Amino acid sequence: MAKKKERALPESLGLPAGGVETHAHLDHEDFAEDIETVIARAHACGVSRIGHVFLGPEDYRDGQPLFAAHPEVFFILGVHPQDAKDLTPARLNAMREAIAADPRVRAVGEIGLDYHYEYSPRDVQDAAFRAQLAMARELDRPVVIHSRDSHEDAVRILLDEGFHDRPLLWHCFGSDIAFAHELLSHGWHLSIPGPVTYARNEAVQDAVAQIPLDRLVLETDCPYLAPEPWRGKRNEPAFIGFTAVKVAKLRGMDPAELWTACGDNARRFFGLDN
Ligand SMILES: [Zn+2]
Repeated sequence: MAKKKERALPESLGLPAGGVETHAHLDHEDFAEDIETVIARAHACGVSRIGHVFLGPEDYRDGQPLFAAHPEVFFILGVHPQDAKDLTPARLNAMREAIAADPRVRAVGEIGLDYHYEYSPRDVQDAAFRAQLAMARELDRPVVIHSRDSHEDAVRILLDEGFHDRPLLWHCFGSDIAFAHELLSHGWHLSIPGPVTYARNEAVQDAVAQIPLDRLVLETDCPYLAPEPWRGKRNEPAFIGFTAVKVAKLRGMDPAELWTACGDNARRFFGLDN
């Protein structure tokens, strides 16, 4: 009989309150049975605020009850590039109204390009990306960017749309230091997910060791991309602590200090008051 692998629990990391998880998909069906437990566990592990990503105006409308009792959850709202073909003017308007009316919506995202799956044609992704960037500019909100196998075009469109030196978070950073420098040169922030803990990701580990501390935030992208030692399992906000510990180690920092600094960066970026 195979021996069950003993994995460290996130509670054992001992991180203090004040951490911010900047990217979670808590309305995913994987959390349908135990969302309250998942949120409570995040708190017990030092996660004080959670950025939940709504993938469109309907999810935003229908998902409100999930978070009614959790004011610590803030929202990021946008149509993902995979759904770009479904971004109608009516849906864009619905998002514009929601963002203008609801202070819990702190950013427009995740928006961008995805050439890995290419569920929507590239020109359609380009148009949907630009339309949502224009909305963010008009409403003066930060943006959260998703880019997969499309970095060159994503950066070109962002510069084209006037996002140099505007508040922008590059979600799920997984590239090398050269690309980090390019993003940093435009004044943007980088969000580090769980795969930084995977043994083979040396280029991103090298980058994370060098990115200026004040541009760094942490995320899970749960239920996807669980960090070690939970790789391959369902990810959840509490697991962000494993990412923090790894990033701190790469930078030669105290984990609690890194945790608090990244939390402060996220609070500043999203304009959170605590
Ligand atoms: Zn996401």
